[in-house]
Amino acid sequence: MPRLSRRSFLAASVALLARPARGAGAPASTAVDVVIVGAGAAGIAAARRVAASGRKFVLIEAADHIGGRCMTDTHTFGVPYDRGAHAIHMPDLNPVTRLTARRGIEVYPAPASQKVRIGRRYAREGELEDFLALQGRANRAIADAARKGDVACAQALPNDLGDWRPAVEFVLGPYGCGKELTQVSAVDFAKSAARNTDALCRQGFGTLVTSFAEGIAVKLSTPATTIDTRRDVTVETPKGTITARAAIVTASTNVIASGAIKFTPELPKRQADAFARLSLGSYDHIALELADNPLGFESDDLVFEKSADSHTAAILANVSGTPLCLIEVAGTFGRDLAAHGEAAMVNFAADWLAGLYGSDVKKAIKRSHATRWNYEPWTLGAFSAAAPGSQGARRILMEPVQNAVWFAGEAVHETSWGTVGGAWESGERAADAVLRRLGPVKEPPSAEASAPPKRRAQRVPAERRQRLEAAPNIMRNESR
Ligand SMILES: Cc1cc2nc3c(=O)[nH]c(=O)nc-3n(C[C@H](O)[C@H](O)[C@H](O)COP(=O)(O)OP(=O)(O)OC[C@H]3O[C@@H](n4cnc5c(N)ncnc54)[C@H](O)[C@@H]3O)c2cc1C
Repeated sequence: MPRLSRRSFLAASVALLARPARGAGAPASTAVDVVIVGAGAAGIAAARRVAASGRKFVLIEAADHIGGRCMTDTHTFGVPYDRGAHAIHMPDLNPVTRLTARRGIEVYPAPASQKVRIGRRYAREGELEDFLALQGRANRAIADAARKGDVACAQALPNDLGDWRPAVEFVLGPYGCGKELTQVSAVDFAKSAARNTDALCRQGFGTLVTSFAEGIAVKLSTPATTIDTRRDVTVETPKGTITARAAIVTASTNVIASGAIKFTPELPKRQADAFARLSLGSYDHIALELADNPLGFESDDLVFEKSADSHTAAILANVSGTPLCLIEVAGTFGRDLAAHGEAAMVNFAADWLAGLYGSDVKKAIKRSHATRWNYEPWTLGAFSAAAPGSQGARRILMEPVQNAVWFAGEAVHETSWGTVGGAWESGERAADAVLRRLGPVKEPPSAEASAPPKRRAQRVPAERRQRLEAAPNIMRNESR
């Protein structure tokens, strides 16, 4: 009897968690108005919009679970572990916090302060202010440079960042964009919407986002292999053929650039180039269960290191008050580390923590896990960041192909790229464009295609910490 590997077992257990209410049978041959490819944040948002219009649609997902890069695993540690997105940026503006979450899902403000480790001690207040002020200066220098042209962010950095330079470069580059600042467009960076206020979800961001797919039928384990637009849209999957009048494709830029989906006719060069110019950076969580809080962290503490070079990480400690600590590795260093496998990643995290807090911490590590998003076949990376000179690629991806295929996903957003909120909005925008093209529905909506129940707008807790003015735009869940 074949045995399940640890990885496939985990995937299966996660799938059970994130399975939508009606993830039913595969189509031998299906005809619909709209086919939506991918059930991550963008695909779920698009499906809700199309469902609400009464149009007939099918949502197909290559993996055996929904959520894509926003999914919560509750099996590995017995507590919610977001393998992808964790922080709900700008919760007052974020589309997912405007929806009412399922009863029992709690969204709360992230704590107000970040910490910095300098060797074996924490930075003093003045040192922390220096760090944040330098981040602010670097941010403004990139914005100034972007007004003149689209250079690499690294070119715009002030020369006098002193011994804080590696830490500033880590926060703005690998931690914020998944890439070194030499590889990131200054215009893309400067256009990004502020991300300096966060909320967190106690049950996991993935739990929150996938709960919004309740009532939406998803065909799981059904990858689109070809999309033919010569006559309407024909999508081939290993489980059958879907014909539709329009398609919304939400697969990541790296998946599309890899050729995993064959387009007939081929994608115009303009779009094919745009996918390549918006390649995904590298960002992973090394999750450690630290028994009895040996380092005295507070719930959801965020800790950076005043590092000497790029071999550094961030700590997201005691996630929602649990013993789970996420060591965040990213950029070139994170990519190289992930290439060596999960054991090497966990070893790095243990050694790095021991260097900052003393070797006793190693004895406190119980269970561990590391994500390797670059090797997830239906994602192939973390999130997009435009190459220098390539910010315009995001707009190009908003253009439909043959008036039949619309792209959506985090990369297809000019300001909230690299976020769940951006992916969600892009999915809604693509659905609106498709629905405009299809025109009004003549027949009343069928029960299958009817909208998920309307929810009252969710109230985000009023108490919101004010972060330092100087904090950079680009950061993910930092600058606290
Ligand atoms: C480690 C990590 C941490 C992050 N942290 C944050 C954070 O704190 N806050 C935040 O806002 N964002 C964060 N992000 C980014 C965020 O997760 C993404 O921007 C967002 O989830 C992308 O959603 P999407 O719908 O565009 O793409 P995806 O989530 O990738 O969805 C696309 C879906 O398409 C499916 N698919 C691919 N190919 C096919 C095919 N051929 N046929 C059918 N289906 C296919 C995939 O399986 C996937 O489910 C993080 C990402 C990572 C990886």
